[in-house]
Amino acid sequence: MIIKQADFVKSAVYERDYPEEINKVEFAFVGRSNVGKSSLINSLTGRRKLAKTSKTPGRTQLINYFKVNNEVYFVDLPGYGFAKVPKEMKQEWGQTMERYLASPRHKLVFVLLDIRRVPSGEDIDMLHWLDHFDIPFKIIFTKMDKVSNNEKFKCLKAIKTKIDFTNDDVLFHSSLSNSGKDEVLEFIGEYLEE
Ligand code: GDP
Repeated sequence: MIIKQADFVKSAVYERDYPEEINKVEFAFVGRSNVGKSSLINSLTGRRKLAKTSKTPGRTQLINYFKVNNEVYFVDLPGYGFAKVPKEMKQEWGQTMERYLASPRHKLVFVLLDIRRVPSGEDIDMLHWLDHFDIPFKIIFTKMDKVSNNEKFKCLKAIKTKIDFTNDDVLFHSSLSNSGKDEVLEFIGEYLEE
């Protein structure tokens, strides 16, 4: 897929706030806060400020909808794993996210994992949840510029002690160098053709 246009559409909390159109495929992005979700969305769309980077906790509970090429939606889901926020707020985020994931929209979920970190309990819960509810998903490892090739394989080995995948089945991306961008866009294009 070649992205020619990307625009913010709306923020949503409840299902009634989602766009009325349900015939467009939605590519949703999830991951712990700071994993590089906004940077990835900006890199893919070629728009430096589309999804705001470096947000403060508390402003991130919303689902943000972006329309891409008038053809698909990109959906920025609330990040999880902020340590410093009150419990009630965490619950609210969880509910917003779960509501979206359980909604009958035509979606594929990109699960973002930082290549340098062993997946957290929340990452693992998310993957189990997607598996359990049969929601198609694809893992994208972020911040690939931060590791050498040698380190990459060490990191993958450590990550595999927690989650199960093959190297051919995941995507790798750096927002700094834009490496892996073409592969993600290619994957999106192929998914749409299926
Ligand atoms: P979000 O909270 O998941 O949306 O994460 P952001 O996109 O705001 O990124 C969090 C921090 O990581 C910011 O300081 C980014 O500049 C940095 N970052 C994000 N992606 C990359 C990347 O691919 N490489 C490097 N070196 N830094 C990144």
